[in-house]
Amino acid sequence: MTDWVSQLADDVIAESERRAPGKTIVCASGLSPSGPIHLGNLREVMTPHLVADEIRRRGLECVHLLSWDDYDRFRKVPAGIDPSWAEHIGKPLTSVPAPPGSAYPNWAEHFKTPMISALARLGVTYRGISQTKQYTSGVYREQILHAMRERDRIDAVLSRYRTKAKPKAKDADEAAALEGSGAAEEEAGYYPYKPYCALCGRDLTTVTGYDDETTELAYTCECGYGETVRLATHDRGKLVWKVDWPMRWAYEGVVFEPSGVDHTSPGSSFEVGGHLVGEIFGGAQPIGPRYAFVGISGMAKMSSSKGGVPTAADALEIMEAPLLRWMYARRKPAQSFKVAFDQEIQRLYDEWDALERKVADGQALPADRLAHARAVGTAEQPLEATERRVPYRMLASIADVTTGDEEQTLRILRELDPAEPIKDLALVRPRLDRAQRWVSTQVATEQRTTVRSEPDEELLAGLEEGQRESLRLLLEGLDEHWSLDGLTDLVYGVPKRQAGLAADAQATPELKAAQREFFVLLYTLLVGRDTGPRLPTLLLAVGADRVRKLLGA
Ligand SMILES: [Zn+2]
Repeated sequence: MTDWVSQLADDVIAESERRAPGKTIVCASGLSPSGPIHLGNLREVMTPHLVADEIRRRGLECVHLLSWDDYDRFRKVPAGIDPSWAEHIGKPLTSVPAPPGSAYPNWAEHFKTPMISALARLGVTYRGISQTKQYTSGVYREQILHAMRERDRIDAVLSRYRTKAKPKAKDADEAAALEGSGAAEEEAGYYPYKPYCALCGRDLTTVTGYDDETTELAYTCECGYGETVRLATHDRGKLVWKVDWPMRWAYEGVVFEPSGVDHTSPGSSFEVGGHLVGEIFGGAQPIGPRYAFVGISGMAKMSSSKGGVPTAADALEIMEAPLLRWMYARRKPAQSFKVAFDQEIQRLYDEWDALERKVADGQALPADRLAHARAVGTAEQPLEATERRVPYRMLASIADVTTGDEEQTLRILRELDPAEPIKDLALVRPRLDRAQRWVSTQVATEQRTTVRSEPDEELLAGLEEGQRESLRLLLEGLDEHWSLDGLTDLVYGVPKRQAGLAADAQATPELKAAQREFFVLLYTLLVGRDTGPRLPTLLLAVGADRVRKLLGA
């Protein structure tokens, strides 16, 4: 009985035993809080989380490090932000003011905080590391001095991958942050360390000289400032990214860290890092599967205020944490998938509920059972769960018709199944809240259902005899069939009775056509259009008295 998570956990345990016998196993993720942390980035965390969780379920010590790359440079002003923020390009993300109106002290905190709370709701336990704190407190001092001593060897490794083409002027600062100042210019020396300017705070600096003995480092900045510092005591700068990442693999003893598909290209920081970590830092590259893209289906415009990229927090507004975990657990990292914000979420929930029933009955396939177990809880704790699993699509229909009115919602839920009535909304929460949120934020106004307040007298007056009879049969049966199952039998049964068929008669094309016609009539009389939520749900939602009134009883 195995799945991709178990297989990776086997590999990681074996590798860790080879590299550091008896030590705590280290899995890692890195996130850049340069903007909203979208659902694709969540895979960067979920992949090692699931593996670390599996290792802990086996009773082994395992830590999941989450590096916040908040000492990285602010690269560009995103759309929708005051263009004057351009003056901060080149500063560390923790030194850039938060977007206008934010309650947070800086840019990085503004985007980190919602992710931290989403990860807590998802049950992801990790040790968060702020790279700003690490660098500015001198944690990496020895590693920085070592990298500077080894700068020629680092340059030689990097040059194996360097392309002839010089970066365009506007990308030059980016390239320097990636590989180091002087990397692109033949005449200048190569330095893997980039100071943030003491005057303007940006990284538009060039190291002009370095003395290994005294650790004196001279730099100039595009702003005109220049100074000489002692690197042995200087804490305002960082190793360039391609050196920084392998340095941390070695420093932290990372055995497992995945990376996005963009790291598959030759000369990627993952590939180059693989050489540097061994040749320079005496460590080893982590086991690092590539994870594929996570897409989104149908995120409504109305909720794309944060730049149109939905975050984990956005997804958790409309779905329960186990469902979101399940999407990441059931697909291998190399498989891409989509998180549904559109009608597809209803089908996804149906699939999830079917899996839960199979698991409860002991009928689920082994891999499916594992994915389910990984979704509903972790080694430490079970996750939030809804006690009575009313189908999401039904809760959405109820939310649609009642526009969230609690009293009406409870009445409908009580009547769904008279044998086991739902007497308290707490029993259907949090799923109810997610479905209500989905309807109010993701379903377009023109797709919402509005129950007629008054009967359509004109339509009622013009009905044919057969149509009148169908309504009469429905109304006669209402009281007796007032439950979800009862009303389902009733609405499908009326056209059968009219055709002189038995209640359990097989559907023929003629019968199906008659049923469709009957349903359109009901929808038109109840909600003034020819479609709507499933009729039994709609009838329950509208309530018997109002149904009678609108159907002309
Ligand atoms: Zn400057």
